[in-house]
Amino acid sequence: MQMTRALVLVSSDRESMERGARQVFERLQQEIRATGLQDEVVVTMVGDVGRHDALPMVIVYPEAVVYGPVRPDDVPFLVEEHLLKGRIAAGLQASVRELSGRIAWLSARQGTLPAEYRIVLSRVGLIDPEDIEDYILHDGYEALGKALTTMTPAQVIDEISRSGLRGRGGAGFPTGTKWRFVASAKGDRKYVICNADESEPGTFKDRLVLEGDPHSIVEAMTIAGYAVGASEGYIYVRGEYGLALERLSRAIHQARQMGFLGRGIFGSDFDFDIHIHAGAGAYICGEETALIESIEGKRGEPRSRPPYPTTHGLWGKPTLVNNVETLANVPHIIRNGAAWYRQFGTKNSPGTKVYTILGAVNVTGLIEVPMGITLREVIAIYGKGMKNGAAFKLAQTGGSSGSIIPASLQDTPMDFDSFTRAGVSLGSGALLICDEDTCVVDLAKVLLNFFKVESCGKCTPCRIGTQRAHQILSTIAEGTAEMDDLKDLLSLADGMANYSNCGLGQTAAVPIRDIMRHFRAEVEAHISLRVCPTGVCPMSGRRAMVA
Ligand code: SF4
Repeated sequence: MQMTRALVLVSSDRESMERGARQVFERLQQEIRATGLQDEVVVTMVGDVGRHDALPMVIVYPEAVVYGPVRPDDVPFLVEEHLLKGRIAAGLQASVRELSGRIAWLSARQGTLPAEYRIVLSRVGLIDPEDIEDYILHDGYEALGKALTTMTPAQVIDEISRSGLRGRGGAGFPTGTKWRFVASAKGDRKYVICNADESEPGTFKDRLVLEGDPHSIVEAMTIAGYAVGASEGYIYVRGEYGLALERLSRAIHQARQMGFLGRGIFGSDFDFDIHIHAGAGAYICGEETALIESIEGKRGEPRSRPPYPTTHGLWGKPTLVNNVETLANVPHIIRNGAAWYRQFGTKNSPGTKVYTILGAVNVTGLIEVPMGITLREVIAIYGKGMKNGAAFKLAQTGGSSGSIIPASLQDTPMDFDSFTRAGVSLGSGALLICDEDTCVVDLAKVLLNFFKVESCGKCTPCRIGTQRAHQILSTIAEGTAEMDDLKDLLSLADGMANYSNCGLGQTAAVPIRDIMRHFRAEVEAHISLRVCPTGVCPMSGRRAMVA
C-alpha cells in the first residue's frame, strides 16, 4: 500500500464556489487520476482559507504552498509542476500581499509570523465540511460521546462554567450560568437555539464556521441539549447564507444517519433533533426574543423582558439561546477540559476571539486570537500596519453595535472586563480600522442611518430617536447645525440608551456618546467653524461615506 504524500485543499466557501471552486476540485481529481497519483495525493474541498480577491485557493501540504486564484485551466500545470516535479507552480502562487489573516495563520505554522491560536476555526479550511467522516477523523463527535457516556448533565454544565466561557455575541454573559438557568427552569419541553442570524455590517465570521465546520454546531447544540434537558434545537440562519444553509442541512442529515441525532444517542436515553429556520433579512431578528418570535411565525419584534427566554422562550418554554461562536467552543471544552481552555486568554475572559479586520489596514481578513490581545497588536501583526502609512485614528468594533475606540485605547487588552472598565464594548467581533481621513460625524451618521432603517418601530425612543439623531448629524455634516443641537443630540442618546425596549435602540446611542466623548473638538468644528477637519462632509465638497 502506498503512503499519501500530499494533501491538496480547495477552498469552498461561498465566494470560492461562485468563482468555480467545484470545477477546480473536479479538474484536480481528473488530473491526479490521469497522472497516476491517486494513491499518493488526496484532494479535498474545505471551508474558507483566504482573502476573497485570490479565490478559489488551492493549498498543497505538507509544504503549505498557497495558490490563488486558481482556474480549472491552471490545474494541469499545477499538478505537473508541484505534484509531479516537486517545484512551485510559478505564476500561480498567491502573492504575500494578497494573503489575509487566515493565510497568515498558515504562514505562522511555517514559523514566519506569531501564531494565532485556533479553537473555533481549528477545522475551518482543513476538513471537508460536507463529509461527516472527515469531521470524525478530526475528533468530531468525541465530545458528545464523552458527555453522554461519562458525564451527567450537571457535570457538563459545571465544566462549561469552570472554563469561564462567555457569550461571544457581544454581551459576554457567562455561558455556564445561562445553561444552569435553563436546566433549572420548570418546563415539560425545553429548546436550544443557535443564533446564526449574523447581520452586523462587516461581520462574516459565523458564516465561515457554518460553511467550513457545520458539524461542530450540530455537536455543540446536542451537548447543550443534553446539559439543559432539551429535546429539540433550532438553528436560525441568516437567509442570505445559502451555502451555510445547504451545508447545515447536509450535516444534520448525516448526523441523523450516523445516530448522533435522533433517539437514544450513543446508546443513552437522550433524544435530540435539530431544525433549521432561515431568516428573512431583518437585522432585529438577531435579538434573541425577536428571533424567537420569528421562529414562532410572528413578526420579528423583540419581547419585553423579563421574563427571559431561559424561563419563557420558544412557545413559552425554557430556551437556551447561544450564538455560533459561543457554541463552537463547547465541543473543544468538553473534550479537552476547562483547565485546558483556561490557558488561553485572560483570567476573566478565557479562550479566543474571532475578529474580522476591515478598513484602512494593509491586510484585511479573519483571525482567531487569544482574548486580551491589543488593538495595536492586531493592526501591526495581522493587519500588517496602516494602509499607505497613514495614522490610526479609531476603530469601530462589532459591526454597528460596538464602540468607537480612539487611539488612546489602542493598548487596552481586548477582553470583556478591560473594555468595560475603559467604557467601551467588544461587540460581536468586526474591527473597522479607520485612519486620519475618517470623519467622526460622517461615521456616526452612517451608523445612525443603519439603526434608523433597521429599527423595528415598536418603541418610541428608538423609532423616533434614531430618525431625529440621524437628522441632526446630517445638519452637522452639512454645516447648518447650531451648538444647541449638540445638547439635543446627547439628550436623544440618553433617551435611547435608557428607555429603548431592546439592544438596538440602546446601542444606537453609543456612536453619539463615543464621538462626543473622544472627538468633541472635531464635532464642534463642524458647527462653530463650519469646517469638516477631514474634508469628508458635504460642506467640504468631498465625497462622504453616504450621500
Ligand atoms: Fe424595536 Fe428599536 Fe424598540 Fe428594539 S429598541 S423594540 S428595535 S423600536
